[in-house]
Amino acid sequence: MKKYNFSAGPSTLPEEVLQQAAEAVLNLNNSGTSLIEISHRSKDFIAIMDEARSLVKKLMKLDDNHEVLYLQGGASLQFSMIPYNLLKNKAAYIDSGNFASSAIKEAKKIGSIEVLASSKDDKYTYIPKNFEIPKDVDYLHLTSNNTVYGTELKEFPETDVPLVCDMSSDILSRDIDFNKFGLIYAGAQKNIGPAGVTLVIVNKNLLGKTDRNLPSYLDYQIHIEKESMANTPPVFAVYATLLNLRWLDKQGGVSEIEKKNREKAALLYGEIDRNPLFRGVCVEEDRSLMNACFFLNDEATYKAKFDELVKQANIIGINGYRTVGGYRASIYNAMPLEGVQTLVNVMKELEKIA
Ligand code: PMP
Repeated sequence: MKKYNFSAGPSTLPEEVLQQAAEAVLNLNNSGTSLIEISHRSKDFIAIMDEARSLVKKLMKLDDNHEVLYLQGGASLQFSMIPYNLLKNKAAYIDSGNFASSAIKEAKKIGSIEVLASSKDDKYTYIPKNFEIPKDVDYLHLTSNNTVYGTELKEFPETDVPLVCDMSSDILSRDIDFNKFGLIYAGAQKNIGPAGVTLVIVNKNLLGKTDRNLPSYLDYQIHIEKESMANTPPVFAVYATLLNLRWLDKQGGVSEIEKKNREKAALLYGEIDRNPLFRGVCVEEDRSLMNACFFLNDEATYKAKFDELVKQANIIGINGYRTVGGYRASIYNAMPLEGVQTLVNVMKELEKIA
């Protein structure tokens, strides 16, 4: 029986996407060859890459200044690629979680960084706000969703400074004006597709302003020119991503999936707040639509029973991140409402027998 997988990433994907990906591994488009055997220079794969790029443009309503790239190295390589390509004098960062802090650590190796605000002292349970953005920085780096703590930026700063945003864990989950960003990046393994590919969207007007002689793979300009085929791309991950993007398009795109995501999050947070056995981890106004983090008020008494009920309900992947503890239910685009309802029912069941 299929389990409800609440893992933070790699995470659940739509059943039809898994089915089609499996079929393509055996026999791509009835060609008699496997997706993972064909050349990335073949007509079939070039068509896959082209559609995967153009569907992102369509779903995110991107203008012609914004280039879509499929790269490797995870979101983690972007922590370095961004400063290598964009940092000339100084860059500003917001420290809103552990991945934001990793981005800062890597950028410091490359150039001058100013951390404008941090919520570290409160264990990253809120999103830092009300900071002043210096006018002379090359970019401001933000993390739109903090996967570990379950906080999410609801509004983005209005500024002339180019915005760079790590959207790894909430990309394509809500309708925002993606064109106002200078650069967006996301590891695929949450809302985009399987691990192994990283989506980067870059406004090409920001490039070419530093004098660095970059290693070729680290140079966005080269990936733009080579249309994400500067070297062998991760063909399976790109194809499965394409299937997932087609699925999202069929759902009605980003604004329609946002409605469903809001419904799922309201259901789950509603129960966390109502049920006297549980409490949320983060401040209410900054709660993430994607990663709902919560604690049992009395772990010593109820943890074993709750974990048992969760298992019986075919739910997996709700353990909190190791530094936070408690529980984290990741409710990305592909998690059905019925999965969230099942978890809520288990929480109610625990209350009944408590
Ligand atoms: N940023 C965020 C917000 C993340 O959640 C993660 C991990 N899932 C990363 C960066 C690192 O991503 P990757 O494992 O693709 O390098």
